[in-house]
Amino acid sequence: MSSEGALYDVIIAGAGPAGAAAASFLAKRGFKAIAFEREHFPRFHIGESLLPAAVEILNELEIEPDPDFFIFKRGARFVCERTNREQVFAFSEALAGPPRGAYQIERAYFDRALADRARSLGAEVIHGVRVLSMNVEGDEVRVATTEGEHRGRYFIDATGQDRLLARQRRSVKPYRHFGKASVFTHYFDLTDEAIELIGEGNDIRIMMIPDGWAWIIPLAVRKLSVGIVSRKQGLKKEMLDEYFASSPLISQLIKGARRGETRMIGNYSFRNAIPYGARFACLGDSNCFIDPVFSSGVTLALTSAKEMVEVLAAALERGEEDDPELMRASHEATAEGYETFAALVYRFYNTKIVDNIFFNAPDDGSLRPAVTSVLGGNVFYGSNPFKEMLLASKKRPWRDDEEATESFDEGIEAEGII
Ligand SMILES: Cc1cc2nc3c(=O)[nH]c(=O)nc-3n(C[C@H](O)[C@H](O)[C@H](O)COP(=O)(O)OP(=O)(O)OC[C@H]3O[C@@H](n4cnc5c(N)ncnc54)[C@H](O)[C@@H]3O)c2cc1C
Repeated sequence: MSSEGALYDVIIAGAGPAGAAAASFLAKRGFKAIAFEREHFPRFHIGESLLPAAVEILNELEIEPDPDFFIFKRGARFVCERTNREQVFAFSEALAGPPRGAYQIERAYFDRALADRARSLGAEVIHGVRVLSMNVEGDEVRVATTEGEHRGRYFIDATGQDRLLARQRRSVKPYRHFGKASVFTHYFDLTDEAIELIGEGNDIRIMMIPDGWAWIIPLAVRKLSVGIVSRKQGLKKEMLDEYFASSPLISQLIKGARRGETRMIGNYSFRNAIPYGARFACLGDSNCFIDPVFSSGVTLALTSAKEMVEVLAAALERGEEDDPELMRASHEATAEGYETFAALVYRFYNTKIVDNIFFNAPDDGSLRPAVTSVLGGNVFYGSNPFKEMLLASKKRPWRDDEEATESFDEGIEAEGII
C-alpha cells in the first residue's frame, strides 16, 4: 500500500469499468492514479452484454478479448413469444462508426481484465479498501478510506450504484418511469441443443413480457444469463421461475442445465444532480444509470471515462483542475448519450415503439441503420436521424417527478448483491 503522504494526481473510488478505464487512460497519459476498490476480483456483477462502442474503448486500451470469457455478439434480437414475432438488429447493419460487433462477457472476468490493464499501464488498483468520504482542503482532495486518508489533486467517484457522493449530497434524482426492479440468475453446462438454439450470432434476446421485459444473454463456456425486469413494484424472486415456466424458449434453453444463485436489484435508474464540481467528478453509474433494456451501462461508463480523462489530463497539465466548471462541456456531451438512451427507454415502456420500430422497422434504407447505430451505443458522434428524432422534443417526461428521495436510495439492493 502506498504511503499516506504521497500526493496522487487522481484518486478514484471504485474499479468497475468506469474507474478502471479512467485509471488506465490517466496512467497512459503519465499521471499518478490510484483506484480503491472495496471488493476482491473476480466477483459477480450484473451487466454482461457490451455494445460496439465499448469495443472501441477496449481496442484503444489494447485489451485482448480472451475467448474463455468473451464471446462475439452479433446484435440485439427482439422477441415476443406471445405473438410469435422476432427481429434481429445486427451491428453490421449500423451506420459507419464503431466496430461491427460486440461481446457478451461475465463481469467477474471482464472487470478483472480491465483492472489488470490499468495496473499494467502504471495505475495502482487496491482491492479490499472502501472509500468513505472526500473533502476538498486547500489545493487538495482528502479521501478517507478504511485504510486511512489519501491526498490527491482530483477525485473521481466511480462507485457505481453505491453512488457515494450523490448519496452523501442527496443529489440522486430517480427516474420513476422505467423498470423498477430486476431478478436474474445464471445457468451452467448448457446442452448441445441449447447451444444450437442460441445460434451463431450469440445475440442478446430482449423478450417482451407483461409489465416488462426479460433478457437472455449467452456467455462463454456454455453459460447463460437470464433475468426479468418489471416496471411495476412488487417483483419477487419466485416470479423468475413463473416466467421460465411460461416461456417455451427459456424452458428449452435451460433444460438439463445447472442453476446458479438467484439475485435481485431495484431502484437503479437515476441521475446525479451534482455530477461534478471543484476537484471532483462522478463517472459511470454514479453519474447516471438508465434502465438496462438496451445494455448501455458499461458502454456509457467506458466511453465517458475516455471523454472525462481527455479534459482532466489537459487541466492537470495546466494546473487548472480546481476549476468547478471544468467538466461542464464533457458532462454535457456525455449527458446527450445518456439522454438518447433515456428517450429510447421512455418510449420502450410508454409508446408503440416496440411494434413500430423493433418489430416492424421500415425498410426504407435509412432508419434501420440509424436505429442499429443507437442500439450499438454510437450516441456521441456524427449525425443520426433516429437519435435526432429521439431528442427532438424539448419535453423530457422521464424527468418528471424527480425530486431526490432517501427512500429510493434505501432500496438500491432489494436483496443480494449486484
Ligand atoms: C439488471 C441490470 C442489468 C444490466 N445489464 C447490463 C448489460 O447487459 N450491459 C451493460 O452494459 N450494462 C448493464 N447493466 C448496467 C451495468 O451493470 C452498469 O452500468 C455498469 O456496471 C457501470 O459501471 P461502473 O463502473 O459505473 O459501476 P460498477 O460496475 O458498479 O463498479 C463500481 C465499483 O465500485 C466499487 N465500490 C462501490 N462503492 C465503493 C466504495 N465506497 N469504495 C470503493 N469501491 C467501491 C464496487 O465494488 C464496484 O466494483 C445492467 C444493470 C442492471 C441493474
